[in-house]
Amino acid sequence: MLKSLSVVLVVLVCITSASGPASSQAPDQRPELSGTLNLLCTPQIVWCEGMKTEFQKVYPKVTVEFVRLSSGEALTRLRNEKANPQFDIWWGGPIDSFIAAKAEGLLEAYNSPNLANLIDPKFMKDPDNYWAGIYVGSLGFASNKNFLEKHQLKPPQSWDDLLNPAFKGQLVMAHPASSGTAYTALITVLQLKGEEKGWDYWKRFNASVWQYTKSGAAPAQHVGQGEAAVGVVFSHDIVAQMEKGLPIALSFPIEGTGWEIGGMALLKGAKHANIAKAWFDWALEPATQELGPKYTAYQAPTVKGAQASKPELLGVLLIDYNFEYAGKNKKAFIDKFTNEIATTR
Ligand code: PLP
Repeated sequence: MLKSLSVVLVVLVCITSASGPASSQAPDQRPELSGTLNLLCTPQIVWCEGMKTEFQKVYPKVTVEFVRLSSGEALTRLRNEKANPQFDIWWGGPIDSFIAAKAEGLLEAYNSPNLANLIDPKFMKDPDNYWAGIYVGSLGFASNKNFLEKHQLKPPQSWDDLLNPAFKGQLVMAHPASSGTAYTALITVLQLKGEEKGWDYWKRFNASVWQYTKSGAAPAQHVGQGEAAVGVVFSHDIVAQMEKGLPIALSFPIEGTGWEIGGMALLKGAKHANIAKAWFDWALEPATQELGPKYTAYQAPTVKGAQASKPELLGVLLIDYNFEYAGKNKKAFIDKFTNEIATTR
């Protein structure tokens, strides 16, 4: 169940010290483009805004219009617009949603020359080139330091620690229906415990929940503000809140934690496919992936030659997260969570 050491090492060594050749287009080799790119953006709004600005610097005659939606909301939007697609490209959010979108015929394959930049193409792109990985991140626990101190508690060290009665009414996580972060947590526990015990775990977790948020990163803010004691959040989003000076402790479960590959895909029926391809290529350049920290995004890069800003966030015990299992069961598991688990809210 735990990720085999060799795979972890390959991923980590590559991510933390990737230095092999990776191609970037020289400014004079970039295509002449003008028009509008309609971007469906799932990461935090600061990063979406930043990427819009950076892309427009590279392609000054292009205007990027984006809508920021969490993973589940984005997938629902794409389903609803299937007959008349409004977006050209989807950038960000765990790949289980991209796997589900591919299965539903919402994506367009694109064999970008920069797929060759990926550190580990076996993990980091769809075998038929329907999506590509643009970042990697691990799930962690965010705890309010003041709450821990007042109740003489240590930051949770395992998934079961979250069920400590001291945290009753104090847990916060996004809802897996809207959030890829929360869906990653849901799958992580189902994988670690098996489905029967895993679903039982979520029933007990639900009994201690203060609130399910829409966006995956929001729980870290609530914990930082002292509205809840502990949140389940991607560790890079926790670090982003800690860097604001909020009283948050970051910890990881000793039995292993889930992790994500953030995805990107061209959308079927894109009205500006040529600009979408330029974004896709550009997003797989090392210099582009190193822009993250400028916009408080500390995910690890997926391309050779880009340095991870916080490699320690992946230096924890990772489970052998099953992206196919997560993608194929997405609708059924979300329905079950909504109808059988989070029924009391
Ligand atoms: N924002 C950041 C910084 C992320 O790392 C991720 C995960 O891919 C998301 C947003 C996804 O958001 P959500 O959990 O709201 O779907």
